[in-house]
Amino acid sequence: MTERVTIIGSGPAGWTAAIYAARAELKPVVYEGAFNEENRQKGTLPLGQLSLTTEVENFPGFPFGDMTGYLDTSIEESKRKYMAPHGKHGVSGPELMELMRQQAMNFGTRIVTDDIVDIDMSKRPFELTTLSGESFTSHSIIIATGARANYLGLPSEDRLKNLGVSACAVCDGALPRFRNHPVVVVGGGDSAMEEASFLTKFSSVVYIIHRRDSFRASKIMAERVLSNQKIQVKWNSTIDEILGDEKTGVTGVRIRSTVDEAKTEDLEATGYFCAIGHTPNTDFLKGQLKTTAKGYVIWTTPQRTYTSVEGIFAAGDVADDYYRQAITAAGTGCSAALDAERWLAAQGID
Ligand code: NAP
Repeated sequence: MTERVTIIGSGPAGWTAAIYAARAELKPVVYEGAFNEENRQKGTLPLGQLSLTTEVENFPGFPFGDMTGYLDTSIEESKRKYMAPHGKHGVSGPELMELMRQQAMNFGTRIVTDDIVDIDMSKRPFELTTLSGESFTSHSIIIATGARANYLGLPSEDRLKNLGVSACAVCDGALPRFRNHPVVVVGGGDSAMEEASFLTKFSSVVYIIHRRDSFRASKIMAERVLSNQKIQVKWNSTIDEILGDEKTGVTGVRIRSTVDEAKTEDLEATGYFCAIGHTPNTDFLKGQLKTTAKGYVIWTTPQRTYTSVEGIFAAGDVADDYYRQAITAAGTGCSAALDAERWLAAQGID
């Protein structure tokens, strides 16, 4: 059997594409990724980046409040263990992903817990191979494999993730643990500038730790940071270690000078935001789709999710290094399903 549409990836883009494709009777199959140690280490387990966050306060439709009754009737019992305690916030990242997954299943989406490791784009229909060694064919494909935040790779980063360690100030910055306390941002690009400026709304002081003596960021964003009284830049410095434990979370960082390696300084902070860039999950495409220099899939037509190969569409962060929000990923997931549906119809494939 040849699939009509295969969706690769299980973040907001993938599930939204599945919901729309399933409702269009395309009987989509979602390859949600494999649960294995390699994916855990890379930050590419099923359900995407949102499954690595805590509260999601900016996804429309999930206002602050108690959702217990709703969740009890909409989520199968075995999945309820992933649900956070309610009454304090709208929805958590893992919950939102489980809800989207369930919604896609409700309309008949089939889900396979495996990675796609290869696509032969020279064939029609396309031929796909899974990590477990199966091959199958599909008339169209939606790539929704997302991107992963880069971290420095320190053991203390891993240990304190979600306990003050984050790679998204827009997602996490307003949490109580950061309010009126010092926080640290690492990096010197536009993301670091944006994260630092955003965090000044909540935190008492924002330290930017940058390994050189000048920013890579655009002049306007760098100037905004340098003129902000709440931001202090620690130039020529790297992070040696994040201080804290699993009970209290982040309590500070130890920084080391890149000019005089013997010089260290401890800074008190309740948060550590890593803003050293993202990496799109596009290795498995093996260069068959046009990408940017950083590996993001290029949308070849404005306002469409078309890629450089006809019949293959892209949605979410895998093709977007600019907005990178759950809601924008969901939006392009919807677009990709509609684009795939119209493309299949134009080919006479029903
Ligand atoms: P980026 O421009 O690649 O900057 C990454 C920063 O992290 C650099 O300053 C780099 O230092 C530092 N870095 C990288 N690896 C490091 C390591 N191992 N240790 C310490 N520091 C490290 O990435 P980005 O800031 O995420 O921006 C990505 C793209 O999105 C850019 O094109 C940017 O303009 C765009 N963007 C735009 C906006 C906006 O316009 N509002 C906002 C965010 C992002 P070095 O400088 O020493 O290499």
